[in-house]
Amino acid sequence: MATGPGQVPGPPPALLTEAGIIAALTPALPGRPDVRLGIGDDGAVLRPSPGTELVVVTDALVEGTHFPAGMPARAIGHRALAVNLSDLAAMGATPRWATLALSLPAPQAAWLEDFAAGLLGLAAATGTALVGGDTVAGPLFTTVTAIGEVPAGQPAGRRGARPGDAVFVTGTPGDAVQGRLLLGSDRDDAAAQYLRSRFLYPDARLAAGRALRPLASAMLDVSDGLDQDLGRLAAASGVGLELDAGLLPLSPQLRTVAGPDAIARALTGGDDYELAFTAPAVQAAAIAAIAAAAACAITRIGTVVAGSAVRWHDGGREYPVPAGAWQHFGAGA
Ligand SMILES: [Mg+2]
Repeated sequence: MATGPGQVPGPPPALLTEAGIIAALTPALPGRPDVRLGIGDDGAVLRPSPGTELVVVTDALVEGTHFPAGMPARAIGHRALAVNLSDLAAMGATPRWATLALSLPAPQAAWLEDFAAGLLGLAAATGTALVGGDTVAGPLFTTVTAIGEVPAGQPAGRRGARPGDAVFVTGTPGDAVQGRLLLGSDRDDAAAQYLRSRFLYPDARLAAGRALRPLASAMLDVSDGLDQDLGRLAAASGVGLELDAGLLPLSPQLRTVAGPDAIARALTGGDDYELAFTAPAVQAAAIAAIAAAAACAITRIGTVVAGSAVRWHDGGREYPVPAGAWQHFGAGA
């Protein structure tokens, strides 16, 4: 913390003990019959709902790699869980439980209070119970494992896209990377504030994912850029994709700030945590109804074809995808 002229720096804030860290991160879980034992024993004991199967996801975030150094603690806590909820959304799962492994270089009470507010606030809002974890001293990173439920016998995934299916994306991809690029900027108009919040507080598309699971032939979340993630979906399904960059749902804020780079942000930026999926074209009306119910735009951007090529077009001409804004190592699934 900066010290002004004439001010004498006080003693550094006391560091929390492991017990203090655990206390700050232990949520009140009243009335959760699915949590027989939570934090405080050697393991959590959980009770899945009858007739469900479990979906388990893990995503690690490292300061300096997956989020910039100095990001607000509340945003780090939110993000630690949100990226995992996004993977559950992509599987059409309902989140139930999560564990957290947290590595902290200097655990201070104020920082941890904000981190806990971000993580536990999102957990409470999504019905996710934090039921265990571990804390260690080390560089700042988080690893959350989240567990969700799906009705038995209704698996989702990336492998079912078939030629003729339509390709869709939720929300407005590209906002988050533009928000990340604005973190160090003085620009503070409404567009910049919106874009920064899209990076700092990603919103997993849980309601849309749950509703889409029975209709989608293949689905994943967009964590590493729409082009790269759609390439993964195509490869897993053994199909090609013909995609129209002119149909991309770009937010007015992204268009305002990024100008001619808006399409590139949407295709290569990453950190969107939107859903990309394929579905038979006859489901278009049902998908529009899901979009309305989930208050989440869903836009058709292309068609599944035979083969293995993923091609973007714009105005009838092939659109060469530019190099990404960055590639982070060890990108999550
Ligand atoms: Mg994923």
